[in-house]
Amino acid sequence: MNEIIIKYKRIKNIYIRVKPDLNIHVTAPKRVAKKYIKEIIEKRKEWIEERIETMQKKNIHDISIKKLEDGNEIFYLGKSYMLKTIKSKRENIILAGRIMYMYVNIKNDLQNNENINKRKKEVLLDIWYKKEAIKLFDELIKKYSSLMNIKVETFTVKKLKSKWGSCDTVKKHIVLNLELIKYPIHAIEYIILHEMAHLIYPNHSKNFYNTVALYMPEWKKAKIILDTFFDI
Ligand SMILES: [Zn+2]
Repeated sequence: MNEIIIKYKRIKNIYIRVKPDLNIHVTAPKRVAKKYIKEIIEKRKEWIEERIETMQKKNIHDISIKKLEDGNEIFYLGKSYMLKTIKSKRENIILAGRIMYMYVNIKNDLQNNENINKRKKEVLLDIWYKKEAIKLFDELIKKYSSLMNIKVETFTVKKLKSKWGSCDTVKKHIVLNLELIKYPIHAIEYIILHEMAHLIYPNHSKNFYNTVALYMPEWKKAKIILDTFFDI
């Protein structure tokens, strides 16, 4: 079951929402018993499950949006940011609130520049995603290296079509899909942990999953977000 996150507010009714993190977010008036909230959730179980399914499909659809047009949602670490492009000679991407400011050297003085501008934005976003991914994945690999007491020699981040990651157990080299940077951090952690656990067990045996569960007891929740599209 997905997590139930309760927030108490000065309101009169109880609201239940399924958010893109696939958890059940409840807003309830102060002093409403948890037991009562759970009863309501149980009563609306069918509706909640439907919402989770729809949200899962929506996630995939939203996340894979390729059109970099102003106002579109761009995903980074499981959150969506509204794209706003700003014409600038110095290129950069800055997140502020839920807006992604893309400073990009686009041209609007010539005709037929649309494709060139589109490509420029794509390249800029990919470079930024990769830079952020390398930084974060490196930190996570270090975290699990010390927890698991194993060593990863090298890792690369690249666009993979049908995998989240792979592991060369001889060279102790891990490849991670750049696409991961769009997903929530616990989903990224699961993939890194998964690939690193292959350095102990190269297969998907019971021992392998026991090792994964040892370091991430709730790994199934992370996997469910990624599962529908790729096999690992
Ligand atoms: Zn595997």
